[in-house]
Amino acid sequence: MALVIMNEANRCLQCKVPMCQKGCPIHTPIPQVIKKFKENKLMDAGKQLFENNPMSVFCAIVCDHQAQCAGHCVLGRKGSPVSFFSIERFVSDAYLDRVRFEKPEKKGKRTAVIGSGPAGLTAAVVLAQAGYDVTIFDDNDHIGGMLRYGIPEFRLSKTILDRYRKILDRLDIQFRPNTALGEALTIDNLFRDGYSSVFIGTGVWRPKNLGIEGESYPNVHFGISYLANPGAFRLGQSVAVIGMGNVAMDVARTALRHGAENVTLYARSRRIAASEHEVDYARLDGAEFVFGHAIEKITEEGPVFRIALFDDDNQVVGYEEEPVQVHADSTILAVSQAPKNKLILTTHGLEGNEKGLLITDENGMTTRPGVFAAGDVVHGSRTVVAAADEAKRTAEAMIAYMEKQG
Ligand SMILES: Cc1cc2nc3c(=O)[nH]c(=O)nc-3n(C[C@H](O)[C@H](O)[C@H](O)COP(=O)(O)OP(=O)(O)OC[C@H]3O[C@@H](n4cnc5c(N)ncnc54)[C@H](O)[C@@H]3O)c2cc1C
Ligand code: SF4
Repeated sequence: MALVIMNEANRCLQCKVPMCQKGCPIHTPIPQVIKKFKENKLMDAGKQLFENNPMSVFCAIVCDHQAQCAGHCVLGRKGSPVSFFSIERFVSDAYLDRVRFEKPEKKGKRTAVIGSGPAGLTAAVVLAQAGYDVTIFDDNDHIGGMLRYGIPEFRLSKTILDRYRKILDRLDIQFRPNTALGEALTIDNLFRDGYSSVFIGTGVWRPKNLGIEGESYPNVHFGISYLANPGAFRLGQSVAVIGMGNVAMDVARTALRHGAENVTLYARSRRIAASEHEVDYARLDGAEFVFGHAIEKITEEGPVFRIALFDDDNQVVGYEEEPVQVHADSTILAVSQAPKNKLILTTHGLEGNEKGLLITDENGMTTRPGVFAAGDVVHGSRTVVAAADEAKRTAEAMIAYMEKQG
């Protein structure tokens, strides 16, 4: 393993204008990290990765490398690109256990982070390293957000999140599990209790329904509800997954690993929203793909579809007269997610757009002064690296805000 990674590092051309770095959404200083790694400065390389991106250890595993760093490497034009992510994984994984932080000068101010997904964790790390007393509140009992309750174990081992918890301890970041803001506690309560600012990174946890008959039947489930704890579900042998996005791919692959024998994904059009490599993996795992099926309702037998008619440009131009009943023991809806509205309903001055996503300015501040937000709750479902990148910049704006407040 170490040899393979060293070979990858040796292939790096140390480009003057590193395209890989441009292709990385958080602009990881790839050539510099590789150089340190080759000089056996493992902890220096890890520090540089962590300071640029506190989510580095996760990004190395779950980023869409082909579309980002690896996809932009010049060596990929004529051959295979440098697999920087494998070096990043090795370095950041080692750094996670060994890092010890210097105590920052304390600012004597409290700040709250709501949500412990990639956005919340990144903001908490940046704020704590700047000397603020950080408390994270999360609705769930463990840190990680979608890293823990969405992305399946076979793609991302949850033990990394358990190890990451030690980073929070070492930075004196407090964690209040099973505490949803917008219920017994509100954002107004936080300001009452002396928090100087609040960061919201609550993501998109409300599965979108389709508004069709049968959605409440016992043989129907929502994709993100299933992924949160697949062992709790009895899906049977045949599973129909509605949707062809990344979540649908994870649902299909998880169902196949939990005993389903036939898993079929259905899309209304001929378009697949998921990334190419996720689709390839789902096919390799044995999932089947059916296009041109628009779901009309769900019965106890399974989903009922209208079959689409296409023109030469693959656009849906109509549907066949007769609906078709497909047999499936379970139907899983994996179409999309939206934010829950607890915080907007309970926070004076906090506004969302028509989709319920929080409105923020160029500094990440919401419509309520002193309350900032980043990640999926602002943009809808995106990626871990995008949430980390935005949260880092937003936490820096929070620091500037608190310093200005005196
Ligand atoms: C199945 C699935 C697979 C994915 N695969 C990938 C992938 O391979 N690569 C990739 O880059 N991205 C992937 N993503 C997207 C990625 O996980 C998200 O973009 C990212 O987690 C967003 O981070 P976040 O911190 O904004 O929100 P989240 O990760 O959703 O975290 C939000 C946190 O807020 C907490 N919370 C919510 N409401 C409250 C409240 N009122 N009070 C307190 N706490 C609250 C939640 O419990 C949660 O811990 C995937 C997403 C899903 C669902
Ligand atoms: S953060 Fe993601 S895109 Fe950037 S270098 Fe690491 S793996 Fe590649």
